[in-house]
Amino acid sequence: MTLFCKQCSSRRLPKYIEAEKTTLWLCEKCKNFTDINDLVIRKQTDEERETAKRKEKEFEESTNFPKAKLNRRKGVN
Ligand SMILES: [Zn+2]
Repeated sequence: MTLFCKQCSSRRLPKYIEAEKTTLWLCEKCKNFTDINDLVIRKQTDEERETAKRKEKEFEESTNFPKAKLNRRKGVN
């Protein structure tokens, strides 16, 4: 059962790993990747964590930008 983590019983999230061309399941609490057979592949690296954070931020910024621009009025800021 890949949906829930064996270690902490948290819900896992599917993550597509570009470098490996496969989807692994990530427990965000344990930072473990497991494959479809429920084997712990490896820990999520700091680099991957940073990349994920950065991508999230970039996505937020790219989606917020037009809105922020629209909302900007004279005399505000
Ligand atoms: Zn876990």
